[in-house]
Amino acid sequence: MKTNETTSVRVRIAPSPTGFLHVGTARAALFNFLFARRHGGTFIVRIEDTDAQRSEKRFEDNIIEGFTWLGLTWDEGPDVGGPYGPYRQSERKDLYRTHLKLLLERDLAYHCFCTKEELEAQKNYMLANGIPPKYSGVCAGLGKDEVARRIADGALSVIRFRATAKKLAFGDGVKGKIEVDTELIGDFTIAKSVDEPLYNFTAAIDDELMRISHVIRGEDHISNTPKQILIQEALGFHTPHYAHLPLILGPDKSKLSKRHGAASILEYRDDGYLPEALANFLAFLGWHPGGEKEFYSLLELISQFDIAHVNKSNAVFNIQKLDWFNAHYIRQKSDDELCALCLPYLQKAGMIDASTDREKVKKIVALEKERLKKLSDIVPLSSFFFALPEYASEILVWKKSDAATTAKSLAASCAALEALDAPQFTEEAVKDALGAVASEFGNGAAYWPVRVALSGMEASPGPVEIAEVLGKDETIKRIRAGITRLNMI
Ligand code: GLU
Repeated sequence: MKTNETTSVRVRIAPSPTGFLHVGTARAALFNFLFARRHGGTFIVRIEDTDAQRSEKRFEDNIIEGFTWLGLTWDEGPDVGGPYGPYRQSERKDLYRTHLKLLLERDLAYHCFCTKEELEAQKNYMLANGIPPKYSGVCAGLGKDEVARRIADGALSVIRFRATAKKLAFGDGVKGKIEVDTELIGDFTIAKSVDEPLYNFTAAIDDELMRISHVIRGEDHISNTPKQILIQEALGFHTPHYAHLPLILGPDKSKLSKRHGAASILEYRDDGYLPEALANFLAFLGWHPGGEKEFYSLLELISQFDIAHVNKSNAVFNIQKLDWFNAHYIRQKSDDELCALCLPYLQKAGMIDASTDREKVKKIVALEKERLKKLSDIVPLSSFFFALPEYASEILVWKKSDAATTAKSLAASCAALEALDAPQFTEEAVKDALGAVASEFGNGAAYWPVRVALSGMEASPGPVEIAEVLGKDETIKRIRAGITRLNMI
């Protein structure tokens, strides 16, 4: 094994565009990005779209958009180009063909004509006889002429790599030393034909041709690594350093999947998660710089990132933790910024339009800031400002009061507020007016029913703030409606 001792760090994220960008790939991309930036290296995006049937441009676009939204930047990739392109495997077929032919010529790979049914039968035989299943080697010894004849006859074949049986060991930056007996792997398929190369082969070729120094990817690829190393060795390539990231599990400790929530990173965006929150959260799926500090910007993550401190054990995706990060980053936004971020959600819900007073919206958003876990929460949390929701009349009564007292205190509040002239309906004036009622009835019995009458909810911002946003007319209207309800209890 020739190790890659080049001094410059070159890492890649190599997504297959067969689905939307998911958490696992986003976390791997982030770790590669952090590692590259930490070491002044190069971060490459390589699109592994050799599976023409399952690869789609819309998935590639989604992946790139997701990376960009997360704040990642790359130095080489399909969109930005670079000295080792093209960066889409579907555009590199000539390179793969050349190397496949080389392996075939040197008899390091061979055509295998076994049918699916034959392979299945071989496997079943081995299993029945307690032999770990691998390719039986039926086609490994076919002569050149025989192969040529079968191909000329139109027989279908795949290309298998002749896996040298040996004890193979490689150092893993996260897991430590990993040893594999390649005898157990057997001759594996590297291409369906010279024009249809498969993942392990294309990855080995590209990691060499793109001068990749470190391969940082999910633990689910550990079993591919010996195969890729065998191919590298056969072709006289370097072997990069490997680091396999721990799996990401759902809260039920099974491998994270769509079942556990959002299927794609952009769904988190659309649901109102901030990129800085998601990046912070993803960075800690399997790694933590240590200490008490939890909130790290991308720049801080870069300065702290250390692949040697990535956990060996699996990480658990905890949505409450993500919400907690997100709520923090939401609170960091200025009222203007947060208002701008919330507008699309309010518009989409039909709660505001171009004619809605922006200052009013800003006030509403500022009032709900502390309660927002994600931007989309602004819709259910603030809808009462735009239209009073249906509510159970009983909730107007404070827990330590009764309906009769509540009716009296609400009537007193109504009168106190009515006495204010509309232009003077300021937060200060409302506060004083309600304060006078509170000194007669007590805080709970005075403020609670006004707040419920104005919001229709048991939890909301305070009555003074709501009244000030609603304005005098709407405030009085809602309190009167509350009094009517009380009289009917
Ligand atoms: N295309 C592979 C995937 O999406 C890349 C694995 C690797 O990083 O080598 O999982």
